[in-house]
Amino acid sequence: GMPKAPDPVLSPRRQTRQIKVGAVGVGSESPISVQSMTTTPTTDINSTLQQIAELTAAGCDIVRVACPSQDDADALPAIAAKSPIPVIADIHFQPKYVYAAIDAGCAAVRVNPGNIRKFDDQIAEISRRAEAAGVSIRIGVNAGSLDKRLLEKYGKATPEAMVESAVWEASLFEEHGFRDFKISVKHNDPVTMVRAYELLAERGDWPLHLGVTEAGPALQGTVKSATAFGALLSRGIGDTIRVSLSAPPVEEVKVGTHILQSLGLRPRKLEIVSCPSCGRAQVDVYKLADEVTAGLEGMEVPLRVAVMGCVVNGPGEAREADLGVASGNGKGQIFVKGEVIKTVPESQIVESLIEEAMRIAEEMGEP
Ligand code: SF4
Repeated sequence: GMPKAPDPVLSPRRQTRQIKVGAVGVGSESPISVQSMTTTPTTDINSTLQQIAELTAAGCDIVRVACPSQDDADALPAIAAKSPIPVIADIHFQPKYVYAAIDAGCAAVRVNPGNIRKFDDQIAEISRRAEAAGVSIRIGVNAGSLDKRLLEKYGKATPEAMVESAVWEASLFEEHGFRDFKISVKHNDPVTMVRAYELLAERGDWPLHLGVTEAGPALQGTVKSATAFGALLSRGIGDTIRVSLSAPPVEEVKVGTHILQSLGLRPRKLEIVSCPSCGRAQVDVYKLADEVTAGLEGMEVPLRVAVMGCVVNGPGEAREADLGVASGNGKGQIFVKGEVIKTVPESQIVESLIEEAMRIAEEMGEP
């Protein structure tokens, strides 16, 4: 199960209706979940399951797979059955794949109202079948594929245009008595995206799936997503998140997890507090921080480890952490819970920190 969020957070969650994506709750009663999307061809069942396993290990809660053809639809039953986390089928253009995904045992289906034209006629049928199968839906509006009618009305994918598309689609499902859906209104510009979600949040109690679409390569995408999600999540808006990067999906999960941890919305495991280094540094701080991070990666206990380059701020920060080192004069003072427990030569700093971290983890009962 997903860990509960620690206190304190910046704002209480916006109250939403609660839905299920398989075993994962999405809505204000549940912790904010992290999603990603596989990059393997969905037809390649083994590679897709392998990638889902990697995403799961990285902390992904829900995974989405593309379903652009009948061959992809045919692969869904095996993927849905063997995936350790709920699978959402991503459907554009063809309502028949929505039915295939429901029959395949997918936990949810993402539909794009801008891309499925004959869709409105079929909402009654989709609602009936989804309801019967316990499948939830995401209405996924995307700036790049906005409904043509709204594009003409607004001139471009403005926040108002995206929200109008989403609210229209939501009303169609609700007219048919179907309420188990969440909504996204993704745009590649964080400011437009934030405004769109703010407007959408005022229009109904739907759970919201946050995303900055086509956010870019790793650095740019990380900053855009962190900025936009931070603006919304800090005010309680957002129930599940997907970071989009032009990078392997495991990176998306790591970034998403870090965003939630930074906002106090997901408990931290390992946190490395390392200084930026400066002209006073007496060790190679970057190398030391990288080595300590690598050595402690995968630790399941919450541990704050300070890696400091000199004795100016070093001892102070190292004392605040569970474990830390303040370096100087070719040596490192190793701190545990605020006490200097030993001073070791520089060459032994990393192994000493790892050794102490393991000991603390064991004491906490979760090696
Ligand atoms: Fe510079 Fe020392 Fe601060 Fe690191 S801890 S940034 S080396 S003053």
